[in-house]
Amino acid sequence: AKGQPDNRIAFFEQSMADEAYRKLVLEEDLRHALNNDELLLYYQPIVDCVTGRVSGFEALLRWNSPQLGMVSPLQFIRLAEETGLIIPIGLWVLQEGCAFLARLYRAGYVDMLLSVNVSIIQLLQSDFVESMWAIVRDAGIPPEHIAFEITEGLLMETFEANSEKLRLLRQRGMKIHLDDFGTGYSSLKYLQNLPVDLVKIDKSFIDELEGNEHTVPLVDSIIALVHRLGLQTVAEGVETGLQHSRLACFGCDRIQGYLISRPMPEEQVLPFLKEYKPR
Ligand code: C2E
Ligand code: CA
Ligand code: CA
Ligand code: CA
Repeated sequence: AKGQPDNRIAFFEQSMADEAYRKLVLEEDLRHALNNDELLLYYQPIVDCVTGRVSGFEALLRWNSPQLGMVSPLQFIRLAEETGLIIPIGLWVLQEGCAFLARLYRAGYVDMLLSVNVSIIQLLQSDFVESMWAIVRDAGIPPEHIAFEITEGLLMETFEANSEKLRLLRQRGMKIHLDDFGTGYSSLKYLQNLPVDLVKIDKSFIDELEGNEHTVPLVDSIIALVHRLGLQTVAEGVETGLQHSRLACFGCDRIQGYLISRPMPEEQVLPFLKEYKPR
């Protein structure tokens, strides 16, 4: 009725205020997380389809918050990007990842590749190349053993400058992996123009390898196409033996997923490597 407050609007405004407040609190917490050692990396193994051996690990960020418990990156990466916190966080991730790789070396695992996720916001910084390179160089590990995973998303916007930065990293030996391939709006354009070593086929395709009859020839063709461009492939989110055998049959180079292992804290990595039997 006229003159009465609209409850739906009042409710909406309240929930927006709650949302804004929640975000503010989360931002403040995240800011402290970095300084208080609440961030940590989990590592998920990646296996070579031909040899069956572990070829490396992907570093995946976790936030162990005293208030919130273990927080998934899906819940805070966006906020970290919006606030710019992803820049110091990203540097920390690389530093921590390089230190992990150096510890693997000392334990006798000298040919592992460590993949690190890089946000487009990091890539946009003018000192991106120098700051990343400085960390890898100071860690004393071969730059060839570090791969940066870049997601298609917004890359196209400032394409020229970004691809130049990726080229400079590659010149120094580091690898560039195109993440979540097939989900962007211009995947094939990226393949044509970006300096990339490897393509990670998105989990959504792998999920459908068993159910959708069109997905089987599609994934087969993606792998063949990527190979014809002289690049390698990783399939992510492999959960079943059937998915694995189909991918192996298509010539996929490496697989990653719960079938091999979930992401694990560092203390589980050496025991995992010692016990892992190629399937
Ligand atoms: P992503 O780069 O696509 O990473 C793969 C995600 O799939 C990880 O989720 C991993 O735990 C999950 N996963 C792997 N195998 C399987 C499987 O067999 N089944 C299922 N259901 N899931 C699987 P996670 O760790 O929650 O990370 C989510 C996303 O957060 C990542 O997606 C990445 O985009 C982002 N992220 C993680 N760490 C970082 C980081 O250090 N920096 C940045 N910028 N982003 C990060
Ligand atoms: Ca990734
Ligand atoms: Ca991915
Ligand atoms: Ca993904």
